Amino acid sequence: MIDFTFTENQLAVRDMARELAAKHIISSIQQFDREQKMNPALLPAMAEANLLGFCIPEQYGGLGMDYISLGLASEEMEYGDTAARVILSVHIGLYSLPILTWANEEQKQKYLTPAAKGEKIGTFGLTEPAAGSDVVGLLSTAVDQGDHYLLNGEKMWISLADVADYFLVFAWTDLEKKKARDHSGLSAFIVEREYEGVTTGALHGKLGVRAGNTGYISFQDVKVPKENLVYKEGHGFKIAMFCLDQGRYTVAAGSCGLIKACRDASVKYSKERHTFTKPIEEHQLVKQMIANMEAGYQYSTYLWMKAGWLKNQGLRSTRETSLAKWIACREAEASAANAVQVHGAYGFSDEYPVERFYRNAKGASIYEGTREIHTLMQADYVLGHRVDKELEHDLPVVGQ
Ligand SMILES: Cc1cc2nc3c(=O)[nH]c(=O)nc-3n(C[C@H](O)[C@H](O)[C@H](O)COP(=O)(O)OP(=O)(O)OC[C@H]3O[C@@H](n4cnc5c(N)ncnc54)[C@H](O)[C@@H]3O)c2cc1C
Repeated sequence: MIDFTFTENQLAVRDMARELAAKHIISSIQQFDREQKMNPALLPAMAEANLLGFCIPEQYGGLGMDYISLGLASEEMEYGDTAARVILSVHIGLYSLPILTWANEEQKQKYLTPAAKGEKIGTFGLTEPAAGSDVVGLLSTAVDQGDHYLLNGEKMWISLADVADYFLVFAWTDLEKKKARDHSGLSAFIVEREYEGVTTGALHGKLGVRAGNTGYISFQDVKVPKENLVYKEGHGFKIAMFCLDQGRYTVAAGSCGLIKACRDASVKYSKERHTFTKPIEEHQLVKQMIANMEAGYQYSTYLWMKAGWLKNQGLRSTRETSLAKWIACREAEASAANAVQVHGAYGFSDEYPVERFYRNAKGASIYEGTREIHTLMQADYVLGHRVDKELEHDLPVVGQ
């Protein structure tokens, strides 16, 4: 039975994230967003507050919290700024939870525990210059050389590329299958920044998420130890899809934080601004925009909570997570456009936060499955073209 009452622990995580957002994000975000820089104090503050591993089991250095807590923290972080939520999405959703699920014990000790404690940062490298949605179009290869794999390739649009210590990377280990575009030729590896041949760089001039680091990673003849293969050769595609199930969940919940930020900014402004002798909150068309934000916030929240509930039971939630992500991102885009509209010309200036919300909202309809990919997924589920199998791996359930 789905229960909408939050536990004390879930509320404690929410409040911790809310406080951190107020202190370390909202107060300074305008400056960092303008300068297109990550706040250097943010990751240490998140580590200090245990926000980098709170839903990883205690035995691996986390706090053992559940998926609903992850959703609530994502919402609070994105209420502050999208770039802050992206940290949770990549470090926990796309890196730590997949390592917890698919890696062996030795790998967890080495690559999960320091990440959960916030001593090391992890990220996810799937996208390449020539391949995003079309995963089997990627070109990176990891050729078995006996005692190591030789990794070559280029990853692009990688969040925290310049910041992370560990990269969960996807590359072809079967070159015949690469030619045949057969995803069972892909494998996943943990690559350390310190390995020779690894270089990274930041992308500038982004539309949004400007207070976050997004970049490229280049691998040139990188010797990846055999023991850094995650799970088995040929399972890279399944692992990547599992990663996206967790990352998309944080994007869905985070987008609710963005919708709420749009709503709150619009409510405040509509009480202050007067036209035609009244505060604009009294004009019905302004009310309509605010009502739409509220509706989008409420139903998007139910969608991510349903996905979180399934995840807490250890059940597959690819379909529900995709729906939650698609709808929450759509509503965030619509809410941000309306928030700018409610602010009139002032919404067009970075004196107010809503222009940042508008730019940030666009990204989430592109990363972690574009709007079109989620639309197709949902149609295919309904039409019976897509049926999820239970994953063969025993999924550890966080928070139990
Ligand atoms: C801020 C940001 C952070 C990111 N962080 C990461 C990260 O940490 N790690 C990572 O690996 N990647 C990351 N990405 C990359 C992101 O996941 C990709 O951009 C995304 O998967 C889309 O791929 P693409 O940009 O290559 O677009 P394409 O796949 O080239 O798509 C271009 C357009 O065609 C449409 N399209 C493509 N195929 C179809 C189809 N079959 N039917 C209908 N329409 C289609 C798309 O919806 C889109 O509108 C990030 C991107 C951004 C913007």
